[in-house]
Amino acid sequence: MAKLSEHGIRLSAMSPTYLHTNSTSHTWPFSAIAELIDNACDPGVCAKQMWIDVTKIKNELCLTFTDNGNGMTPIKLHKMLSFGFTNKTGNKSHLPIGVYGNGFKSGSMRLGKDALVFTKNGGALSVGFLSQTYLEQINAQAVIIPIVPFNQQNKNLIVTEDSVPSLEAILKYSIFNTEKELLTEFDTIISKKGTRIIIWNIRRNKDEKPELDFETDPLDIRIPDINSEDGAGKKKTYRRPEREDQHIPESDYSLRAYCSILYLKPRMQIILRKKKVKAQLITKSLAHIEYDVYRPNFNNKRVKITFGFNCKNKEQYGIMMYNKNRLIKSYEKVGCQIKSTSRGCGVGVIGIIECNFLKPAHNKQDFEYTKEYRLTMQALGQKLNDYWKEKKTKKSQEEADSTDMVEEPRTVPDQVWAQCETCMKWRKLPPEIDPDSLPENWYCNMNPDPKFRDCSIPEEPEQSDDEMTPSYEKASKKHDQSLERKRWKSLEQEKRMQHSQLASITQRKDHSETGESEEEREEEVGYRTRSCSASLSTASGCSDNMNEERVVSSSLGLNSNKRKQSLKNQSWNKKRFKERAEVLAVPSSPDAAQSMEYGTVNSTMEGQSNSSDDDLIIIDDGATEGSKGSITHQNTKQEETKTVDFPNLSCINNITEENSLNSNGPVYHATAEKVLISEGTQTNKLAVIKKIETSSSGTREPADSHSNMTSQENIFTQKANEIDPNATTKCTAATIHFLEKQLDQARNLLDERTTERDCFRKENEEQTITIEQITKQLMEYQENAIQQVKATMRASLMENVNVVGPESWSLEEIKAYYKNIVQERDDLAQQLENAVKKMENCSSESKQLKEQLGKVEQERDQFKLEYEKMKHNLKASTNKGDDFYWTKKSAAAYRYSELELMRSEVEKLKGQKVELEEKLEEALRCNALCKEAWDPSTSQEVAQTNSVLTKLKSLRVKVGHLLGSVLPHLDLKDISYETDIIDEILEKVIEANKL
Ligand SMILES: [Zn+2]
Repeated sequence: MAKLSEHGIRLSAMSPTYLHTNSTSHTWPFSAIAELIDNACDPGVCAKQMWIDVTKIKNELCLTFTDNGNGMTPIKLHKMLSFGFTNKTGNKSHLPIGVYGNGFKSGSMRLGKDALVFTKNGGALSVGFLSQTYLEQINAQAVIIPIVPFNQQNKNLIVTEDSVPSLEAILKYSIFNTEKELLTEFDTIISKKGTRIIIWNIRRNKDEKPELDFETDPLDIRIPDINSEDGAGKKKTYRRPEREDQHIPESDYSLRAYCSILYLKPRMQIILRKKKVKAQLITKSLAHIEYDVYRPNFNNKRVKITFGFNCKNKEQYGIMMYNKNRLIKSYEKVGCQIKSTSRGCGVGVIGIIECNFLKPAHNKQDFEYTKEYRLTMQALGQKLNDYWKEKKTKKSQEEADSTDMVEEPRTVPDQVWAQCETCMKWRKLPPEIDPDSLPENWYCNMNPDPKFRDCSIPEEPEQSDDEMTPSYEKASKKHDQSLERKRWKSLEQEKRMQHSQLASITQRKDHSETGESEEEREEEVGYRTRSCSASLSTASGCSDNMNEERVVSSSLGLNSNKRKQSLKNQSWNKKRFKERAEVLAVPSSPDAAQSMEYGTVNSTMEGQSNSSDDDLIIIDDGATEGSKGSITHQNTKQEETKTVDFPNLSCINNITEENSLNSNGPVYHATAEKVLISEGTQTNKLAVIKKIETSSSGTREPADSHSNMTSQENIFTQKANEIDPNATTKCTAATIHFLEKQLDQARNLLDERTTERDCFRKENEEQTITIEQITKQLMEYQENAIQQVKATMRASLMENVNVVGPESWSLEEIKAYYKNIVQERDDLAQQLENAVKKMENCSSESKQLKEQLGKVEQERDQFKLEYEKMKHNLKASTNKGDDFYWTKKSAAAYRYSELELMRSEVEKLKGQKVELEEKLEEALRCNALCKEAWDPSTSQEVAQTNSVLTKLKSLRVKVGHLLGSVLPHLDLKDISYETDIIDEILEKVIEANKL
C-alpha cells in the first residue's frame, strides 16, 4: 500500500516544486499538448477520438482534453499522476511513445497550474487531482495526489484508505465544490469509457494574457507572435528556437497544423475546438516521391527515407524526423539545404524518416545528441543531396527537351489517400480523384476500389524497412560508376597491351616465306603510338561523361576462313555502341581478350597507300587457318567509318578523330583507310603499341609469345607495309630511327621464335616416338590380358561343369560340350516350363475343386441349418405334451401356496380367537363385578337406603297419626305407608289450609 501523507492521502514522494521544474522541459507549449495527445493514442488507451477544447468552467478558463479510450482504474490513475512509474507496454506495431510515463505530469503542469483527471473504465469513475495551487495552500512537503473512486453503476463513493479525505480536498481546492458537480463532469465523456483532463490556471504572460492565443482563430489554438523582451533582455519566443530562417512552418504556431503531422501514420482523430483536424499521411502527400534506404553502421537495420516535394508550401522543407510514429523534429534542414552558399538548393524537398534507433530527448522535440544522431544527420544530408541532384537533372533535361514549357508544373501529390471515419484505416484512392473533392467524412464503403471497400479489410501493406531498396538509381552515382568503370577499363586495356606486344607487330608470314617476310617487314608503330597514348590519356583522365564515347572498341571472334565476308559486311560505326557493350560484358574468347587492342590500327596496302593524314593499323590475330582470330578496333568519337569492298581485302576501316575534342591531347587527325590484306592463306597481325611499352617489349615477349605462339606452332613473318608518303612527311629522323629499332627487335624476336619452333619440333618428334612405343606396349599388354582372361575363363568353366575332361580340350570340343550343355539347359528349361504349366493346371484344378468344396460345404451348412430348424420344431411339438405335467405341477404349487395362505389365515384367526377369548373373559369379569355391585344384600348402600326407607315409613306413619288427629273423618286404615299417598294428602291439607 502506498504510504499516506500527514493529510491522509497517498504520497508521491516528490517535492511539489518538482511539478513546475519538470514541466519546464517543454519550452514550446505545443510540445506539452502533444504529450497529452500521445497519452490518448498510446496502446492500452487506444482512443479513436480526442477532443481538445477551450472552455470556461465557473468563470475559469480551462483547456480540456477528452478521449474515448479505455479509461483507467484508480490504481492506474494513481500511477499516471505520481512519479516513478511507467508501465507502458506495447507491441511491435504499436509502441508507446513515452518511455518515462512523465508526459501527463510535465505536459499538464506546463499548460496550467492545476489539473483534474476524470476517467471511467466501465467499472469505476475516478477523479485525480494534480494541483500546484492545492499543494501550495496546504503547504505540502511532498506531492500529494488526491484520488477519488466512485462506483460507475450507482455513483457511490468507493471507500478506500484515502478516498474520503481526497474527496474533501478536491471539493475544497478544485473548481468543483460538490460531489454532484464532480459526478456531472463524467457525463461529458460521452462513451462508457474514456478520460477527460481539465487544466485551469492556464499559464499567462506578464501582461496576464494566456500564453496561447485562443482568439485569433476560434477553430485553432495558436502561439501568438510575441517576441517580447524578457527581464534579462533575452528575446523570449515560444517558437521552436532552432528556426533561423525566414519561413517559419505553420506547424510551429498552429496547433491544427501541428496535429495534422504529429503522427507518421495517424490513428486517432483529433477534434480541435469542434473541428476535425485533417490528418495528413505525410509520406503520401508529397510529389515526386522516391525512397532511399539508410543503413546505419551502428545497427543492422535498414531504414526507409521518403523524399518528395512539399505540395502545399514550397517554403516549408527539410527532414521530418519521427520516432515510434511520433514527430520529433520537423523541417530539419540538412545537406545542401543548410549551406548558405547554395541558396535555393533542396528547396521544397521534404524527407521523412522514422528513427526508432535514436533516443528522443525528454521533451520529445529533439533527439539526444549522440554519435548515432550525428551520423544519421550526415547520411540524411547526403541522401537529400542525391535526391535533389537527381530531380534537378531530370528537370533540366525535361526543360531542355521541351522548350515551350516555361511555367513550372503544379505540384500535386503522387498519391491520394483517405482515412475512414469508422475504422481509421487509410485507403489509397485512384490518382484521378481530386483530394479536395473528398467529403469531410469519408468511409471505406466510398472507396472506388472494391478490394478495399470494407472496414474489415486490412490496410494495404507497406513495404517493410527490411526489404526496402532505393526506388531510384541515382544519376550522380551512375555517373560515378561509369567513371569508375572507364578507369578500370583503361587500366585493364593497358595491361592487355603489355601482354600482347607480340601480337602488336604486324606480321605476314608463311612457313615457306620466312626469308621473304623479313624483307617485307615494315614498321609504322610510331604513329600509332601517338594516337594510342592520346586516347589513353583522355580516357583515363576523363571526368566529363559527355566524352565517354571517345573510347570505342569492338572485338570480333572470327574464323579466319570466314573473315573476309564478315569484315566486309561489318559496319563498325553503326554498331559500335552495342558492340562496345558486348565487349565490356564478355570477351568473345580468350584470344579475343588477349588480342584486344587499344589504339588506332594503321595499315596501308601495298600500292594503295591513299590514307591521307594519319595512321591506320589493321590488327589480325596471329592464328593458323581455322583457328579463331579476333580483331579489335578502337574508334573515336565522331569517327567516320566506311567499309570498302575490295577484292582480296579483308577489312577496310576509316577512322577520323577530330582534334577539336582533344585539345589537351596530342593533335591528331585521321581520315585514313585501314586496310588489311589477306593474300592466300597468310595470316596477319597488325597492331599498335605504345612507344615505351614497345621499347620494353623485348624483355616481356618470351613469356607471352611462348604461350600465344608456340602453342599454335606459328611462325611469324612480317608483312611489308608501306607508309603513306603524305604521312611520312611528318616523320622525323628520330621516328625512322625508332622504327628501325623496332624492326630489329622484331627480327630478333622472329629468330627466337624460329629456334623455339625447331626445338618444339624435335620435342614433338621425340614424343611421337615415345607414343608409338607406348602404343606397342599397350597392344602387347592387351593381348596378354586377353590370353589370361581366356585361360581363367576356361578353368572356371571346367570347374563349373565338373567334368574331368582331357587336360587340353580343343575349342571345338569345348564348343560341342557347351552346345550340349546349352541343349541340356534348354531341355531343362522346357521341362521346367512344362512342369510350371502342369502346376498351373493343377492349381487351377485345385481351385475348381476348392470352389466345389466350398459349394458342398455351403450346402452342408444349409442342411445343418434346416436340421436344426426341424429339431427345434420337433422339440416345440413335444413340449405341447408336457403341458399337463407342468399344469399339475404348477397347480400343486398353487395349491400349496393357497394352503400356506390359508394356514397363515388360520394362524391369524387363532390369534384373533385368543384375543376374543381374552376379551370375553374380561367382559365376564366385568359382568361379575357389575353383578356383584348390583347385589343389594351385599351392598352397604342398599342397607343405608333401607334404613332411610324405614325412617321414611315411620315418619309417614307419624304424619298419618297426626293427620288423623287433625282430620277425624280421614280413614287411614287401608293406606300403605310404603307409597307416597300420605305425602300427597299432607300436601293437599297444607294447600287447603293455606299453611
Ligand atoms: Zn473503414
